[in-house]
Amino acid sequence: MALLKRSAWYDTARNNSWTPKYVSFEELYPRELSDIFDLPLEEWEKFDEPYKDTFRDYVHVQREKDAYAYSIRSALERSKLYDVAHPGWRNLVKAHYGGVSIVEASAAILQGRFARFSKSPAMRSICVLGMLDEIRHAQIHFWFAYEHIRKDPQFDWAIKAYHTKNWVAISVIHMLDDLEQRDVVSSTIMTNLIFEVAFTNLQFIALSADAERSGDHTFAHFLQSIQTDEARHSQICLPVIRMMMRNGKKAEAQEVMDIAFWRMYRIFALVSGNAMDYGTPLHARERSFKEFMQEFVVTQFERQIVDLGLDRPWYWDIFLRDIETFHHQQHIGIWLWRCTLWWDDCAGVTAPERAWLEEKYPGWSRTYGRLWDVIAENVAEGRLEKTIPQAGALICNMSQLAMSGQCGDEWDVKDYYLDHEGKRYHFASEVDRWIFTRNPDRYKDYPSFTDRELAGEIPEGLHGFLTFMGLQPGYDTGTCAHGYSWIKDYYPKEAAE
Ligand code: MN
Ligand code: MN
Repeated sequence: MALLKRSAWYDTARNNSWTPKYVSFEELYPRELSDIFDLPLEEWEKFDEPYKDTFRDYVHVQREKDAYAYSIRSALERSKLYDVAHPGWRNLVKAHYGGVSIVEASAAILQGRFARFSKSPAMRSICVLGMLDEIRHAQIHFWFAYEHIRKDPQFDWAIKAYHTKNWVAISVIHMLDDLEQRDVVSSTIMTNLIFEVAFTNLQFIALSADAERSGDHTFAHFLQSIQTDEARHSQICLPVIRMMMRNGKKAEAQEVMDIAFWRMYRIFALVSGNAMDYGTPLHARERSFKEFMQEFVVTQFERQIVDLGLDRPWYWDIFLRDIETFHHQQHIGIWLWRCTLWWDDCAGVTAPERAWLEEKYPGWSRTYGRLWDVIAENVAEGRLEKTIPQAGALICNMSQLAMSGQCGDEWDVKDYYLDHEGKRYHFASEVDRWIFTRNPDRYKDYPSFTDRELAGEIPEGLHGFLTFMGLQPGYDTGTCAHGYSWIKDYYPKEAAE
């Protein structure tokens, strides 16, 4: 039997709208889940996805992609790569699995909601395939991570992380819920445009370049296999944004984008910034975090938003300064609080690494380097307890991350607070505070780690603190990835002892 060409039946197959008989259209597509901007229905009917795909073609391609990734993995497992990998790299991979696996699963639910609540039949159809993408991503993450669990219980965090009250998990969940728990229009801009176009490029392409250079071909192919899907389904947002622009909703689209961009950026700075500038072995670093940001986000993303008719976020200058500072500040806190992590963190401050940091971030030594000198001295003198903070940090009520600022001569530590309905909220930046003011009811009741501490929710002492975060002291708590061996660059004699 001859098969019809795809173009002959495609439009008919995806235009599966009907007039509901038993409920009203508004009940079928509630405003708060479908479209809070009330775009006209005729516009939704015109939605034309920028790429065409069918279930048959989709399954065919995805099957090959999976087969390839899985075959590379089994070949490399036999080569015992994991056992000989640089500790920085091994832990970077661990941090990635815990941080990203369940996020992929949540993206599957999000695409499923688009497939249910979009007012466009064409968008509903294409999002079913987007949902299958994300299910595959979650499964491949779990499968690859759990290969290593016999050797290292921290890999269990691939599934565990977001089921705990670990501070990293709380911060990511707060951000993700903000982006994903909205109507279809807002969420497609926030996730497809911001998360996928602007930022997964960074984590997946940049990190896969570093993976190749570290000799971890499994991880490199694994990332590329996922990124090809992201690059495709991220385009789903484009017709929706054009619809917003045609219907006088530029300001609304801009605000949604500006909120998501900052929230995503701050989490990525923490995760990717730490990984690229401190965790990746020096010889494998293709570029610094700042350089990757400049190429993938500043240049490429900026071009895209200008093409769409949108503007750069209002805080662009703040952002450009932030990519040189924020992740260095956070890195110090992350390493000091290493016992609260599900991976062993790299200090990444040997003499050659410091020289690299100074070259990439002129002034690094006189700001962050100074703090590392103090930490190094404490390590060398055997005062490890002095390298673990005795009091919790003040937490930003938006990012849920520790407030941090510039140290040294460019001292710039500031609490951007706001009093709202008799309560004082603390923010780590002007932008975080601005996001809160857009919709205080959305954010005001969420307890930060500081709020939880003050409410007595967290048991006393370090042990109680760790248990609260889902860690078992001495079993899966993080430590220094290199067993403090980097100290020999500072104090050769002590290190030999
Ligand atoms: Mn994905
Ligand atoms: Mn995706």
